[in-house]
Amino acid sequence: MSYLLSAAKLQSYYRCPRAYYFRYERRLESAAFFGSAALGTSLHQALAQIYQDWHYQDPIPRWDWFEYCWNQQVGDLTSSQITEGRSILRRYYHTFITTQSAMRRPVAVEGRIQGCLRVDNLEFTLSGRYDRLDYLDDGLELIDYKSAKEIEPSEPDEIDLQIGLYYLALEQRYQRSLKRLSLLYLRTGEKISFEATPAHREQVESVVSDLAVELRRDRRWQPFPGAQCDRCAYARYCPAMRPDPDPLPDDARPEPGLQLVLSL
Ligand code: SF4
Repeated sequence: MSYLLSAAKLQSYYRCPRAYYFRYERRLESAAFFGSAALGTSLHQALAQIYQDWHYQDPIPRWDWFEYCWNQQVGDLTSSQITEGRSILRRYYHTFITTQSAMRRPVAVEGRIQGCLRVDNLEFTLSGRYDRLDYLDDGLELIDYKSAKEIEPSEPDEIDLQIGLYYLALEQRYQRSLKRLSLLYLRTGEKISFEATPAHREQVESVVSDLAVELRRDRRWQPFPGAQCDRCAYARYCPAMRPDPDPLPDDARPEPGLQLVLSL
């Protein structure tokens, strides 16, 4: 039995083991986020099609190709979203395509990657999704499209864990190193890149190793109070927030730890 980890889970554990426990071990609902993701989804799908289906016989596609792919993906968008998406793609085209001598064929688009890590006799599967994976001369570049209206401030440690997870998984799958993770902000045309090094993989190994100890032996899930508590959905259950925290709701998943250990 393998314990499944994603970048979001690793980041959550790193931020606060107790919140991780509530969310992933006891499966308590976190606050739901609402909002229209439809435009972002259509943009991701259009970009995947643009790179996936292009014939690569001409160095650079004409704008018509982008327009064609966009029109395939507009689905149920409103007319103003269709117009907005088209102008976002146009900016992308002029910023990232026409400035190059050729549009390079990616290794893969809209992919899922998995890596394995065995720690303390527990097997972890590290799983992640990516929007695009490109070859560089000396390794791989992972591209993550961002369609949010504003550039999200990224916590350095959290980005590092994301990089480390991909570093480990890509190394196992392609026997090549991840050199860069690049966040590409579609609305502003900005590209923010982070260099990847073996130290990122080692950081992930260290966090997974802590988690293994927690799962195997400690099960303390120590609260780690900080700025994140202000928006934590589990504060009412948290002993660091209240001397007498609420009991967990009846539909919380039973403690799964013993079962995990016994099944190995
Ligand atoms: S309130 Fe703070 S310390 Fe408690 S679980 Fe949430 S993030 Fe962790």
